[in-house]
Amino acid sequence: MNADLVQRWIRPQLRELRAYHVPEASGLVKLDAMENPYPLPTELVDTWLETLRGAELNRYPDPQAAALKARLRESQGVPADSGLLLGNGSDELIQLLALALAGPGRGLLTVEPGFAMYRLIARFCGLDYHGVSLREDFSLDLPALLTAIERRQPALVFLAYPNNPTGNLFDRAAVEHIIQASPGLVVIDEAYHAFAEDSWLARVSEYPNLVVMRTLSKMGLAGLRLGFMVADPAWVAEFDKLRLPYNINVLTQLSAEFALRHAEVFQQQTALIRAQRDSLFAALQDIPGVQPYPSRANFILFRLSAGGADEVFEALREAGILIKNLHGAGGLLRDCLRVTVGTQEENAAFVRALKTIMAGRDLARAGGL
Ligand SMILES: *Cc1c(COP(=O)(O)O)cnc(C)c1O
Repeated sequence: MNADLVQRWIRPQLRELRAYHVPEASGLVKLDAMENPYPLPTELVDTWLETLRGAELNRYPDPQAAALKARLRESQGVPADSGLLLGNGSDELIQLLALALAGPGRGLLTVEPGFAMYRLIARFCGLDYHGVSLREDFSLDLPALLTAIERRQPALVFLAYPNNPTGNLFDRAAVEHIIQASPGLVVIDEAYHAFAEDSWLARVSEYPNLVVMRTLSKMGLAGLRLGFMVADPAWVAEFDKLRLPYNINVLTQLSAEFALRHAEVFQQQTALIRAQRDSLFAALQDIPGVQPYPSRANFILFRLSAGGADEVFEALREAGILIKNLHGAGGLLRDCLRVTVGTQEENAAFVRALKTIMAGRDLARAGGL
């Protein structure tokens, strides 16, 4: 009975989608979701809780989050003449952009492999979706992109910089070309900014169609849900009409402001993660049959040259380690797995388990011959 009602009323574009799947992780070493593995240092926890004591839970939060915005502008280097808009995670901002620009014949163009939410959000907001394949080495295929932009005239182009799930930064000159050739908005998604040591933020004032997005999630505050976008104030004024009035709750406003006042703590943690990323990369390079791709983010994509990604993923989970299996996506991600950089101990446990699993597969193969 209910199924008929659902069938009748839920929009067909929505019915054909599958919800974003988050696997169960309890009891596992969690290296699947690009979280910072380090908690807030204990000596800061008490001061943080003291800050929260001032939260008026009975009142609506400041709808403009003025204090937090001022702090963000200063700590993130937002150009003074640019507009700034906050979201409940940058996922909310992607949705807001899509809602603002959707319409018949309007499309969102991005690269593949890329961030899964671009496609999902485009579809449920009623935008056509255009995916343009990266080259084998995950670099931008500029001629293909320029042709697709010319033909599709997309309302929105999304580029994650560095890209997820591949981890690389795209060539700056190619990105510049895309910004100039695009009739609509180009969104540079800097979710991994804390690890990239490169950015487009300072260029926002130069291009009327450039939006730069960041999030506090990957640098260590995934639980807070705070993302922000920077663009020409005229764009931001329009997007602000779509934003629900109190999208940033009072606990997030206070906690994020507190965290940004202690930015050096997060800078130390992310620097440590960058260093560990490079050791992890070297360790993966040393495992026969494993081909890691260089990363400017807090994760590493790697390919199993003899295949078997599903089996290796399962064996790792049985060994208590959860990473991300991308093999099912096919295309350039065939035989690929992605691991988030964890603590030194977590990375060591992962490398140990992977080594054992790969050696076992080698032996089985030799025995089978
Ligand atoms: C993780 C991620 C996001 C989402 O970040 P939230 O702020 O946690 O919603 C956006 N874009 C990319 C490329 C990501 O990897």
